[in-house]
Amino acid sequence: MAIGAIDIGGSKIAVGVVDASGRLLAKSETATQSAGAYPEAIQRIATMLREAAARANVPVQGIGIGSTGPIDPIAGKFLHLDTIPQWSGGTPVADLAREFRVSAAIENDADAGALAEASWGAPRTKTRLIYVTVGTGIGSGMIFDGHLYRGVDGAHPEVAHQVLDAYGPPCSCGLRGCWEALAAGPAMAQWMESQPEYDGPPGLTARRIYELDAQGDPLATRTVEREIFWLGIGLANLVNLFAPDAILLSGSVMKGAGRHLDRIWQVMRQGCKFVPLEKVELSLASLGEDANLIGAARVWHHRFQKHG
Ligand SMILES: [Zn+2]
Repeated sequence: MAIGAIDIGGSKIAVGVVDASGRLLAKSETATQSAGAYPEAIQRIATMLREAAARANVPVQGIGIGSTGPIDPIAGKFLHLDTIPQWSGGTPVADLAREFRVSAAIENDADAGALAEASWGAPRTKTRLIYVTVGTGIGSGMIFDGHLYRGVDGAHPEVAHQVLDAYGPPCSCGLRGCWEALAAGPAMAQWMESQPEYDGPPGLTARRIYELDAQGDPLATRTVEREIFWLGIGLANLVNLFAPDAILLSGSVMKGAGRHLDRIWQVMRQGCKFVPLEKVELSLASLGEDANLIGAARVWHHRFQKHG
């Protein structure tokens, strides 16, 4: 049983083939913006998937897609995509299902990552998992008792837009001081570059800030401390709202923040007094860089294979 996996992000598209145990058999990537308008892009993705299946030497028996949002997972459709507006209204599920004559399904990319961690990640008996990915934005997926949590009309909850500082920096959603506007990678860079003592070039990245912190740059250290604070506050809210068994963290910003998990935990401890925080597992996700791509395959299993 090999499933074609497609991970559509604002900057890159990854296509692969994943076996029944979650092992990635073949993979290729392309820049999203180079894929062109929707009809050409879907053809390009189909070609990449055929090539990956040929390299893995397996037939594709189903297709799973994880995508930047917002999407309609039930209709299999892109809604008004924030990062790739020219694809809005596209129907990748129907188009790829027809092209390969197999069943296909789509979910938000963080939901895909959450599904993969819950089923193919490090073994755990936990039943209420929240997966949080912090990179260019903040994404989250919630798995309760093996099922992906959906909101009204199939909607994906937007934990990135929980407001932590109502008079904070403006956010793409229209409010101010959302978690994403305070703690995603670009927010770290913007904050550091806006400080009067910053004298470096523009174009900082989270990775560079962590490097500078490791080299003893005092402003970078303050930026990392601020990041730990806002990550901790957002996570404390999730614990207070959902009292989950585990929160799994991934994404490019968490790569650097991962070694500060104990300090993030200290921030959470200041405000999670009425839930048993000490029983909540806070750890880095186990599937690494390809979690979202592997998760795309898991989307197919979750939709079409009803099992425990
Ligand atoms: Zn927002």
